[in-house]
Amino acid sequence: MKVNVMAIGAHPDDVELGCAGTLYNHVRKGQKVAIVDLTEGELGSRGTIATRYTEAAAASAVLQLSYRHNLKMEDGFFELNRANILKIVQILRLHQPDVVLANAPSDRHPDHGRAAALIRDAAFLSGLIKIETEWEGKPQEPWRPKRVFHYIQDRFLEPSFIVDVSESMEVKMESVKCYGTQFFSESNDGAPVTYISSEKFLDKIKDRASLLGKRIGVTYGEGFISDTNLGIADLDQLLYPEIA
Ligand SMILES: [Zn+2]
Repeated sequence: MKVNVMAIGAHPDDVELGCAGTLYNHVRKGQKVAIVDLTEGELGSRGTIATRYTEAAAASAVLQLSYRHNLKMEDGFFELNRANILKIVQILRLHQPDVVLANAPSDRHPDHGRAAALIRDAAFLSGLIKIETEWEGKPQEPWRPKRVFHYIQDRFLEPSFIVDVSESMEVKMESVKCYGTQFFSESNDGAPVTYISSEKFLDKIKDRASLLGKRIGVTYGEGFISDTNLGIADLDQLLYPEIA
């Protein structure tokens, strides 16, 4: 059940908006990728819990995910506490990801910053042998991911590094559009108009990716924040892309 990369988001669609291109890069390499949604997005102004599940399943199929879980925390009100940390620890130990991608450390939606802290703490505590958890009645081994990075969401934050997602951008947009009740769609006439449901919002996602891509000399990019310094073996690893 091991995966290479696990992306965790407060709401279904956070991961698609923030880092679906990067996830699909890893899928294209033949790696296993999982998404974990902390809440069911039940406070969303548009759609229902049922439609959000259907939409998330469709997006998972587009991204060819190996697993997707929903931890059913309370949208808008989940806290950094023992119960919620242990829910994440269970999933980390179940799938043993090398890399975890988490919400932005601060953002327009207050859930995102709280999720970032919760995920970061859970990733550390998951490695402690004296924290005991079970999955389907069986005790779990400790597991600490090698890296935790934060994807940039609505508010622009200066990235620590940028991933070239030019080859995955089309699939990313396809996964985002699976959330038909959240974003602009001709069939949603009459639903309340929100910040993210205007036709222009989808264009803005591409604009952001284009801005980040330009910084590294490629068509589209996704930015990530690292809380720690990143090491490299030698300078050759920094020669991508060849002409910037
Ligand atoms: Zn969100």
